[in-house]
Amino acid sequence: MSVMDNWQEIRKTIGQACENCGRDLEEIKVVAVTKYVTIERAREALAAGVSNLGENRMKGFLEKYEAIGDDAVWHFIGSLQSRKVKDIIDHVDYIHSLDRKSLAKEINKRAKQPVQCFVQVNVSGEESKHGLVMEEVEDFIETLKDYPNIKVIGLMTMAPHVDDEELLRGIFRKLRALRDKIRDKQYLHAPCKELSMGMSNDYRIAIEEGSTFVRIGSSLVGQ
Ligand SMILES: *Cc1c(COP(=O)(O)O)cnc(C)c1O
Repeated sequence: MSVMDNWQEIRKTIGQACENCGRDLEEIKVVAVTKYVTIERAREALAAGVSNLGENRMKGFLEKYEAIGDDAVWHFIGSLQSRKVKDIIDHVDYIHSLDRKSLAKEINKRAKQPVQCFVQVNVSGEESKHGLVMEEVEDFIETLKDYPNIKVIGLMTMAPHVDDEELLRGIFRKLRALRDKIRDKQYLHAPCKELSMGMSNDYRIAIEEGSTFVRIGSSLVGQ
């Protein structure tokens, strides 16, 4: 399938999800996750009208960035080593994987302007998953006020790869409730209005549960 065909299907699904819960389509940003595919395929996503591209590894990110440059809005969605921050910091528009103070410190030091970050949360508690556990998130965000180049725009999670819709809904609802709680504190450094949740397997459910950024790889650009 062409990226354009996939994109039309996904738009339909997002439209339906929005209708199901009375949301406005404009609230949802789709990040095309291009980690499995070629530069050519990433360009097809741009041509289809998806301007947000996401990569989870340094090498893939830099390869795509070098080829495509500022024609895209760039998201780094994978675990990030502090010593690699300097290699991407001038090119990245959003970081979805802020999960520790040492990383925040390095981003703050290297960035020339505030960087839009999501704090990654391991809602499901699976050991294989990165991110803070729910109980750590509020204190962590509080400590980030010392870093003027970190702007916490929201929370991110990766749900387990399962078909159990109620389980997935439960995870997304927990993240949303935590987002609401932090947003309501009205921190200047952490407006925390966004939710980065939902992938190929579960983006419809994530949108129904309030997601504002869905990260879609395989079903949009392919594997
Ligand atoms: C790979 C990846 C995605 C996209 O996964 P698909 O199931 O292919 O849509 C989303 N988010 C993160 C963090 C990823 O690593």
